[in-house]
Amino acid sequence: MKFNTKVIHGGQSHEPSTGAVNVPVFFTSTFAQKSPGIHSGYEYSRAANPTRQALEDSLASIENGAKGLAFSSGLAATDCVLKLLNVGDEIIACNDLYGGTYRMFTKMFEKYQLKFHFADFTNIKNVEEKINEKTKLIWIETPTNPLMKLADIKAVADLAKGKNILIAVDNTFATPYIQKPLDLGADIVMHSATKYLGGHSDVIAGALITKNLELGEQLHFIQFAGGGILSPMDSYLVLRGIKTLALRMQKHSENGFEIAKYLENHPKVDRVFYPGLKSHPQHELAQKQMRESGGMVSFTFKSGKKEDAVKFLEQIKIFTLAESLGGVESLANHPAMMTHASIPAEKRLEAGITDDLVRLSVGIEDVEDLIEGLEKGFV
Ligand SMILES: *Cc1c(COP(=O)(O)O)cnc(C)c1O
Repeated sequence: MKFNTKVIHGGQSHEPSTGAVNVPVFFTSTFAQKSPGIHSGYEYSRAANPTRQALEDSLASIENGAKGLAFSSGLAATDCVLKLLNVGDEIIACNDLYGGTYRMFTKMFEKYQLKFHFADFTNIKNVEEKINEKTKLIWIETPTNPLMKLADIKAVADLAKGKNILIAVDNTFATPYIQKPLDLGADIVMHSATKYLGGHSDVIAGALITKNLELGEQLHFIQFAGGGILSPMDSYLVLRGIKTLALRMQKHSENGFEIAKYLENHPKVDRVFYPGLKSHPQHELAQKQMRESGGMVSFTFKSGKKEDAVKFLEQIKIFTLAESLGGVESLANHPAMMTHASIPAEKRLEAGITDDLVRLSVGIEDVEDLIEGLEKGFV
């Protein structure tokens, strides 16, 4: 099956008792047993629920993995991966991470004596020099949020080969339509399904997909024992979103590219961060690793002033000033004061998240209207 077919049919079957074409929302906590321990395959919905199962099978299919797991949020999925580790283990992660991931690593897991090293993954040497015998996990986000830096997934996976190091990739920005980390050597893909997979800004959800079944079972045990599962209704919404993922990502990418070009030619704009632009320092890697460039575009102002960014965000039309991304509607965000406020100011600046940086999640509206809406922010 190819991708456009997989998003609709991958891992799916009609509901067996009625033939319902859409998976029903199984609002049930528990399942009848014929005799103690003799059941239909479902016992209690924390362990498994048919609607969640349908979503998990879809997730595994679209990421080319062996097992999918659906969580109550993206961060619940990340939390589950971290719980594979033991006291004293070391983790290497990008220094330009989703703010909530950074907060979890440093504020929650450091106290359990996990040691985190943050590195700029655009140069593979920075990763290599931090690997030692205690390294157990490398956490990649590519493209990064909000600076759209890329990590070469295959090169990082090659570094870790034979060293008993897990490679996890946060594939939220790209989605499997654009890049497939498991095919490039990663062990785990993580998603904030709140974003493009759900695609309609109506649900908070997370996902893990593993390359092999055994690791998937280990993570399922942690999820079952810890309890961070996705509800049947929310599973239904994400599954429904995935059906149009290919169409949406195509349009997000088309619009993203047009907006990036518009901004690059704008007299008031300094830098534009978008992997599809020739000016992106890793444009070549983008062409190798990504099928399209997606809908996330960040930029800074020639003036370098925070006030210009704030004024822009107050004045733009069509785009809504809000956190989050990946929905059909366009959103705009000020990383330093909104999504990335949990990162200390000096760390933010070190990573390049300046106060005049604006991040756009370009939706699937008509691009002429989007450009007109952005132009209002520059006057
Ligand atoms: C939103 C986001 C997360 C966190 O996901 P939630 O669903 O909000 O818990 C993690 N990584 C990236 C890249 C995100 O954009």
